[in-house]
Parts: sequence; structure tokens; C-alpha cells
Amino acid sequence: MSPEEQTGSDPDVKSVEALRGKMLLSDEVAANLKGMARAAAKHSYSPYSNFPVGAAVLTSTGRIFVGTNVENASYGLSVCAERVAISSAVSAGEKSITALAVYTSSKEPCPPCGACLAVMSEFAGEDAPILMFSEEKERRSTLGRLLPQRFKLNPKERK
Ligand code: ZN
Repeated sequence: MSPEEQTGSDPDVKSVEALRGKMLLSDEVAANLKGMARAAAKHSYSPYSNFPVGAAVLTSTGRIFVGTNVENASYGLSVCAERVAISSAVSAGEKSITALAVYTSSKEPCPPCGACLAVMSEFAGEDAPILMFSEEKERRSTLGRLLPQRFKLNPKERK
């Protein structure tokens, strides 16, 4: 096999995006985030959609906060797992998010919705890895790739 044939033959590295995701998030940290996100999904309150979701965010201090989706009979009041996890981190004084993992029980991994990406962008940089996974598959991306033109204001107070 020539060197050219060997390049890209690693089944774990299917794209430049996947490689970039691996560089930004170590396997150990990714495994921690995934385990906590999957565990959080067990507490999902999703009787209307039957679509349990679990999320875990890593903050710049190394702490991990989890969330699950919480639905409501008045559908519009339902909250996604990602926003619950982010709100939990901010409630504990953590305002710098460095990575997000989201677990869905679907066959294909699901990216966070636009609202969750917008909320994440308030506390995370565009290089923040986003790890989407199901029991069968995993995808990695970044906040900047999933939300390339985010809405920004200059907050009056920011640490
Ligand atoms: Zn969402």
C-alpha cells in the first residue's frame, strides 16, 4: 500500500471535520461528556414526543453540567436538554462553555436546534466542539460550523 492509499484509511477519521473535532476534544473528556449526557437522558420528561434527549456541557473550569428535555402540555413551554444544561452551568456561576455533548435515542445523532445554538453562543466561542451521538453513531462539529452567523450584542457586563 502506498502512502497515498494509507492516508485517510483510518476508519475513525472520515473527514476533516471529524479530525478537527478530535483535536479540540480529547477522547477522555469526550467519553465523560457522553456518559453524563446519556445518563441525563434517563431523566427526560418527554411524554408528548417520546424523544428523550440528554446534554452535558463542559465549562472552562473543567466542570460538567447536565440537562434533559422537559416537555409541557403547553408545547411551547418545553425546554431542550441543551438549554437546561447551559442554564444549570450559568446558575452555578459558570459562564464559559468549552464543549457540548448531546445524546438522542434516535438512530442518527441530532444537532442542537437553532435556539440552543443561539443560547450556547452567548457563553461559547465558535471553536467550541459539539459532539452529537446516538447508540449507534457519533458526529462532531463546532458551534461556528452549526451556527456560522450568530447574533451578537456587546454585553454591558461580562467577566
Ligand atoms: Zn434546542
